Amino acid sequence: MVTAKEILRTQEDLECPKGFLLCHSVRSTLAKDFSPLRTSGDEIVKEDKTMKITEVKAVRIQFPAGLPGRHERAVGRSASWTQDAEVANPMSRYPVYKRHRSLWTPKWGEVWCKVTLEDGTWGLGQTANGRPVAAVIDDHLGPLMVGHDIMAGEKLADMLFRLTKPYGSTGLASYAVSAIDLALWDARGKHLGQPVYALLGGLQKERIQCYATGNDVEWYQELGFKAFKLACPYGPTDGIEGLKKNEEFVARAREIIGPEAELMLDCWMAFDVEYTVRLAETLRPYRLKWMEECLIPEDIDGHLALRQRLPWQTLATGEHWYTHVPFLWAASHRVADILQPDINWCGGATTCRRIADAADAAGIAVILHAGGNTVFGQHFSFATPSVPWCEFFVASDPGVPLDKGWRYPGQSLPVEGWITPNNAPGFGLEVDPAWIEPYWGTE
Ligand SMILES: [Mg+2]
Repeated sequence: MVTAKEILRTQEDLECPKGFLLCHSVRSTLAKDFSPLRTSGDEIVKEDKTMKITEVKAVRIQFPAGLPGRHERAVGRSASWTQDAEVANPMSRYPVYKRHRSLWTPKWGEVWCKVTLEDGTWGLGQTANGRPVAAVIDDHLGPLMVGHDIMAGEKLADMLFRLTKPYGSTGLASYAVSAIDLALWDARGKHLGQPVYALLGGLQKERIQCYATGNDVEWYQELGFKAFKLACPYGPTDGIEGLKKNEEFVARAREIIGPEAELMLDCWMAFDVEYTVRLAETLRPYRLKWMEECLIPEDIDGHLALRQRLPWQTLATGEHWYTHVPFLWAASHRVADILQPDINWCGGATTCRRIADAADAAGIAVILHAGGNTVFGQHFSFATPSVPWCEFFVASDPGVPLDKGWRYPGQSLPVEGWITPNNAPGFGLEVDPAWIEPYWGTE
């Protein structure tokens, strides 16, 4: 409890000009700490409207057996392309790892973050690269969020960005930041009883079109998709023969989908500038809407050179860029026509909003990596004007309907290629609290 006399003493200490009841800095402090002020005789009574964060923890979610696609893979009429298809990648130059990305990518699995507020409200965020990311959340970032107001979103995002500086804010740290940021948004939405898209500015669109990612193109056509992105099989180490096989691969897809549908090619960091130019020129007759992530993400000069060498080819990238910083550089240098942050990897919804604002100012589109596959990407995409499409990665077997494959409980699925938002508070995840376990408790 603070008395009016004490405040007026503070006013004198700060030498406020006469005529002001309280100088600005004191008023700001009071507005923040004692909002709204209520006087009771000579006393000013504090009504604290903040909602404090009491815990931020890495957790696992044990999804029950009844949910389709999570524990048992539904078998279709043929195996999904993900099971066996070779995809060009940064390790393709090493023959022992070349055949399939699963030969060398880490097996850390996912990790969730749970944020709890002082009234018991809780929110969830999710990301990849489990063990090391869970350590960043539990051993460093999570405890430092405790005690802050859940509504101070920009402050918390700025803290997360700066707290990671001693060990680097990109890579694994960015996955941890993403999970925390998304859990904060989920808790904020539940606290206010609003879907996250409403907190991000409201629905900018009532529905959004998805393109299908994967190589089972006929199946995606059956599902009603009108735009398709292929995973490129071969790269520089496959020489002229690989170039020819890449052309046959793209030509076949173009023949299946016809001249009107959109076709894109994902190159997953597998190329250099020279190979990208050769492949783009070879594929020009097939009218790719874009070529994606052709270069190693850190190859800054390469991105500038590629833009110069391929002025006519629409380029997309950003899936493996972290924090807002490289995206701001890409927008200002116009090295890409479409930016593709992953909301679960690059820093969460707050970072994606910074990216989308910069992209919109530069007249560049944002299409989140796998944005249609998560409630997080969907809410952001529905609210954000610079997002025209969602990606929907299809990993289930041809013949298995989308609702028989894995999805987050509560997540909307594409119908004829279009998704509509869920409207529940937060991100609308339907997770029973009994499914949530401490991340390290089961190790
Ligand atoms: Mg990609």
